[in-house]
Amino acid sequence: SKKPIRVAVTGAAGQICYSLLFRIAHGDMLGYDQPVILHLIDIPAAQKALKGVAMELGDCAFPLLQGIVCTDDLKVGFTDVEAALLVGAKPRGKGQERGDLLKDNAKIFIPQGKALSDYAHRDVRVLVVGNPANTNALITATHAVSLPKKNFAAMTRLDHDRAVWQVAEKTGSVVADIAKVVVWGNHSPTMSPDLAWATVKGKRALDLVGEEWYTKTFIPRVQKRGAEIIENRGLSSAASAGNAALEHMRSWFLGHKHDWVSFGIWSNGNTYNVPEGLFYSFPVTVENKEWSVVNGLTITAEQQRKMTVTANELLEERKAIEDLLKI
Ligand code: NDP
Repeated sequence: SKKPIRVAVTGAAGQICYSLLFRIAHGDMLGYDQPVILHLIDIPAAQKALKGVAMELGDCAFPLLQGIVCTDDLKVGFTDVEAALLVGAKPRGKGQERGDLLKDNAKIFIPQGKALSDYAHRDVRVLVVGNPANTNALITATHAVSLPKKNFAAMTRLDHDRAVWQVAEKTGSVVADIAKVVVWGNHSPTMSPDLAWATVKGKRALDLVGEEWYTKTFIPRVQKRGAEIIENRGLSSAASAGNAALEHMRSWFLGHKHDWVSFGIWSNGNTYNVPEGLFYSFPVTVENKEWSVVNGLTITAEQQRKMTVTANELLEERKAIEDLLKI
């Protein structure tokens, strides 16, 4: 049987993790033949609640769960982990400026980047879920000096999957019929969900859904879906965010080569006019645990404008925390 993989998850006592952890332990993320050891990380004040979560995980008697580590110590939490899902983050306080939120979160992700660099498995894949996810990913990857930037990503999979579902529902088809959806840029309302190449059973999606629905309903709905969930459920999306984190990691570890998927990844400055050094969402395919950006797409002027708006927001976020990027 396979050697267990150590999986670290931060914010493990929180809402997203309350659905995510059980599914990882069940095998939904790394495969139904892959044992896991969960490293549950949270702040000191959350340790008692974390213990309760660990007790429930144990009580499920998952055959693939071969160990549970609960800790507030990043060295213990990240030692030898091959997957790290950074979910814990500080929510925006009442009346707090976005710049201050960025800085407060930066202070959480600097030590995490350093600890991953010092203690994680050299082949670790790190997904940042906690918001502002793209800029938090930039901080983490920057401070993880011994690890390659390509091993870090910010989550835009929920935005991607929301877009897929909207197209399936609108066209009366099923998820498996939909291909080549793209979400560009920041995980924020400036993100750019793009159906220019999307297909439904091989037919051009834009011909089926119509321009009016695309621009007036689809794009704003995907951009603001988080708020729509809060308005209806009274709480933020947690199970769907957890599912997206899991699916992102599943694609990364087990491959995603027959369709495109959206990953927020380090921009090299040569791709679709995105400035260098931002964690920006691109369409990728994944093979052998390595993503590759889908190259050679022709971008219209209007689409390029939207992609620049979301890139500019990421440049502003980076500027707000630039002091914290010094190593
Ligand atoms: P959740 O588990 O609901 O959310 C955690 C993070 O995921 C938030 O930053 C949230 O952003 C983000 N997120 C990303 N995508 C989505 C999405 N689509 N829908 C909803 N959230 C999304 O938060 P809880 O407050 O329940 O739990 C947070 C945990 O983190 C707690 O256990 C806490 O102790 C821990 N924590 C750790 C800190 C640290 O490491 N120092 C600091 C603060 C908290 P958004 O806020 O924008 O919804």
